Amino acid sequence: MDECYKHLEKEAVSVCTNCDRPFCEECRQEFGDELFCSINCVDAYRKSLRKQTIDVMTSKKSGFAYSGFLFLALYLMYIVYKYQKGGLTISQLLPHIVLYSVLALILAFAFLLISLSSGKD
Ligand SMILES: [Zn+2]
Ligand SMILES: [Zn+2]
Repeated sequence: MDECYKHLEKEAVSVCTNCDRPFCEECRQEFGDELFCSINCVDAYRKSLRKQTIDVMTSKKSGFAYSGFLFLALYLMYIVYKYQKGGLTISQLLPHIVLYSVLALILAFAFLLISLSSGKD
């Protein structure tokens, strides 16, 4: 094993998870199951971890929201198609319109939350 990059006279006990440099027992910092050479590296690692989680959550949410919008577009086409074919009367159409508005509102709200959460950091 190499020697510690900060204490050249000491033998390294492990390699930092964040910066890949060898470090000694004295420098050793723990976070979860990982070992680090310094508090700075723990912080950097924690930040990158948090950012990754947010990225994954945001992409999942926007994937959900986009498929929701696709669904709404198809749904609208279906309603218009049915109506034009004369398959639906106005009273039959009404619940569809209400449902459609509610879904659109939920999606708009979801999009608002996504843009708020991804705007942070
Ligand atoms: Zn490090
Ligand atoms: Zn050291």
